[in-house]
Amino acid sequence: MNPEAADLLRCGAQELGIDVEPALDRFAALLALLQEGNARFNLTALKTEPDIVLKHFVDSLTCFGGGHLEGAHQVVDLGTGAGFPTLPLAIMRADLMFTPVDSTRKKVEFVRATAEALGLHNVRPLAGRAETLTRQPKHRDRYDRVVVRAVAALPVLAELALPFLRPGGLLVAQKGPISPEELRAGQRAAGELGGRVIEVEAFSLPVLGDARTLVVMEKLRDTPSKYPRREGVPNQQPLF
Ligand code: SAM
Repeated sequence: MNPEAADLLRCGAQELGIDVEPALDRFAALLALLQEGNARFNLTALKTEPDIVLKHFVDSLTCFGGGHLEGAHQVVDLGTGAGFPTLPLAIMRADLMFTPVDSTRKKVEFVRATAEALGLHNVRPLAGRAETLTRQPKHRDRYDRVVVRAVAALPVLAELALPFLRPGGLLVAQKGPISPEELRAGQRAAGELGGRVIEVEAFSLPVLGDARTLVVMEKLRDTPSKYPRREGVPNQQPLF
């Protein structure tokens, strides 16, 4: 990692109240592996060091905002792609166990190999679609948290994520700016699926100032067994 990118990471994380200094070597190794992976199979649209550091690493760390991961142990990252937010979170929190999920096997293999290369024993990637995995008893109603970044609109996220959670568990969704319509639809979907929206926090991405929103849903009771609907339907026909 070049010194300018390292400074951006330090400053960006500091704005979030996070000291990355002890983890800088691991972030540098992650950056190198991501760039190498990108050269082989286009994993992420972000290519430059400042972009990767701010829009992947620091952006992922904003998930710690509000303390919603405190008290958790098992965390699913739904639609992890190249490993975000899982990998930055797992670097900072060895006490949390992450299960990054993605339907694209190539991406899951990249996350698995990268976690292994970084010596992250708290990352267990899983290939598959949320609609199918949450039909398996070992993945339904099991997890304390689901984190999700840049995957779908709120009603779709609610249908895909809430079945993973135990009652009392939280979905922490990292979004850009959201419209009142999307929020309303998300609130109605949460209700239908056994949850409710408990927090909506608008904030700015450190250094760049881009608008971000953290939406937190709590699962109150078991999700009705008819959900999620079969593969692809939550996206094609959102509940609300
Ligand atoms: N979270 C990552 C990030 O922020 O960089 C990746 C975001 S990418 C835009 C969305 C990812 O979600 C894709 O890798 C896609 O394969 C995955 N995905 C979408 N729907 C899914 C589903 N139903 N089950 C599992 N993975 C899904």
